[in-house]
Amino acid sequence: MRRYLLFCGLAFVSVCLGATEKRISSPDGRLEVIVTDSCGAASYSITYDNELFVAASPLGLKTNIGDFTSGLSMGSKIIDSMADVSYSLPNIKKSNVNNKANVTVIPFIRDGRNVFDVEFFVENNDVAFRYNIYPDGETLCCVVEDEATGFRMPDGSTTFLCPQSAPMQGFARTSPSYETPYTLDGKTGENGWGEGYTFPCLFRNSDKGWVLISETGVDSYYCASRLMGGNGNLYKIGFPNPDEFNGNGTSQPGIALPGKTPWRTITVGQTLAPIVETTIPFDVVKPLYEPSKDYTKEYGCGTWSWIIKGDASMNYDEQKRYIDFCADMGYRTVLVDALWDTQVGYERLEELARYAKNRNVGLYLWYNSNGYWNDAPQGPRGKMDNIIKRRKEMKWMQKVGIKGIKVDFVGSDKQLTMKLYEDILVDANEYGLLVIFHGCTIPRGWERMYPNYAASEAVLASENMNFSQGSCDAEAFNACIHPFIRNTVGSMDFGGSTLNRYYNAANEPGGSRRVTSDVFALASAVLFQSPVQHFALAPNNLQDAPDWAMDFMKNVPTTWDDIKFIDGYPGKYIVMARKHNGKWFISGVNAQDKTVKLKLDLSTFFNKGDMVRLYSDDAELKGSLSEIKISKKQTLM
Ligand code: CA
Repeated sequence: MRRYLLFCGLAFVSVCLGATEKRISSPDGRLEVIVTDSCGAASYSITYDNELFVAASPLGLKTNIGDFTSGLSMGSKIIDSMADVSYSLPNIKKSNVNNKANVTVIPFIRDGRNVFDVEFFVENNDVAFRYNIYPDGETLCCVVEDEATGFRMPDGSTTFLCPQSAPMQGFARTSPSYETPYTLDGKTGENGWGEGYTFPCLFRNSDKGWVLISETGVDSYYCASRLMGGNGNLYKIGFPNPDEFNGNGTSQPGIALPGKTPWRTITVGQTLAPIVETTIPFDVVKPLYEPSKDYTKEYGCGTWSWIIKGDASMNYDEQKRYIDFCADMGYRTVLVDALWDTQVGYERLEELARYAKNRNVGLYLWYNSNGYWNDAPQGPRGKMDNIIKRRKEMKWMQKVGIKGIKVDFVGSDKQLTMKLYEDILVDANEYGLLVIFHGCTIPRGWERMYPNYAASEAVLASENMNFSQGSCDAEAFNACIHPFIRNTVGSMDFGGSTLNRYYNAANEPGGSRRVTSDVFALASAVLFQSPVQHFALAPNNLQDAPDWAMDFMKNVPTTWDDIKFIDGYPGKYIVMARKHNGKWFISGVNAQDKTVKLKLDLSTFFNKGDMVRLYSDDAELKGSLSEIKISKKQTLM
């Protein structure tokens, strides 16, 4: 399989002789990764059906025990193997995953020593790779100062990216909180707001297809990364800004040797289907501990008062009202948001939990992540940042019967912060708690790695529609982005699907106004995936929302067996299908001014003669429910 390429050159032109090349094919042979050591530097490129999808891009790292970006040659002991990727994971988009991968480990030699390997894991539309770094004699640890790891987009590519925000900015110096707006079909060569881009990052490879770049398998053994631009078509891995977390903790990860870095992932497709349907974030990771109980039985719907009624609703009576509402909906949990510690108090919270239990409802409690890294004043503060206080608090929660926690304002990707995420998850598992993160980074394979992990915000979520009319006006636009980008790599705690016309307790003019339809709210409950959904429904919706809408919301699943992308374009429209218990839910929304006319082939989902429920809007966005019979042609216009 190895080929030696010899280049001839004139005496005064510097040339690199004898580059070694290794090719790795996907199981179906359509995708190919080409790795070389040309000019003493490791690099790779990716083709699909012989079209270039990632141009020659650098590999390698700079560490404090050596610079492994130059003077490299490919070693001869390349190991090829095949992997059956087979697992069950009910909290993502496919409950049972069965993939095949070709796995190749390529050693790189510097000064006669195998300094690192690059391990490639290649599925039909996905490439994951990571470094295995080796000890140097008695040196058994190192600091990775920088990675050369890059992704060079082919000429003509456009970008679909959200900028990373600068550290220690925004509300109470909590940024980055991974809540920034996307720019679609942008040009390459820019660098966001100067801080690169938050993963995952989508690129359009002209009219040839799409590339999604992200990373997975990040835990306390490394930092999380961002994608740095500003260098033509080349994007590279960037470590966290040193100022994150108020400057606490290093931005350069430390690693014990031998040690492995996280996986960088690249999904390529001629259409957006492989992007929307990918499971690569979960295929290359493993559970890191045993669940202390069966959390899969605790997934489901819930609701929360804060999204419509704000801080003032954080009182005993209103929370009790939401518990009753939750019970009436047949939902599982109420999320008691910020300020409960002072506005309800610990004693009355216990009372609420008892009341909820009698109504077969569980509670989630909000916590501020902080200790010493931001100024967010909302309580409870100083409970999640310290192992002694955290475990004491969680023991209390277990005694009271709390189902989960929502930990907010975590903003940083440093290794120290990854350890905080991991420590919270590990402790929460000991006390039987599911964990939602807010004001936080994207999950990186955590749905599989941490069995009690539920979801993360890491998106401009529903709260922004409470904050501003602009976010309401952009609701459909954003809903047509997330299934292609943010939500495709990890569960997304959006907290949406409101049926209130206005974001206030009276549901009357004042504050921001929802401009989307009721059918849109139903569609987004299917479009957005999270195994725990706290919807922005309010008790008044039992009276003021249409019965067909409330009936749908009472029964909408939050876990899915399968996913199929049908049609769409980021920011314009999307039609996709999710399957639950043998039943397909097809969801479509349009963000454009004009109606989209589509002819949908439904033969994958329904048989001829099947009766299906159709929730649709008329030209004035007034919704209704009808029953239709699937025709012989199995299409829908
Ligand atoms: Ca937030």
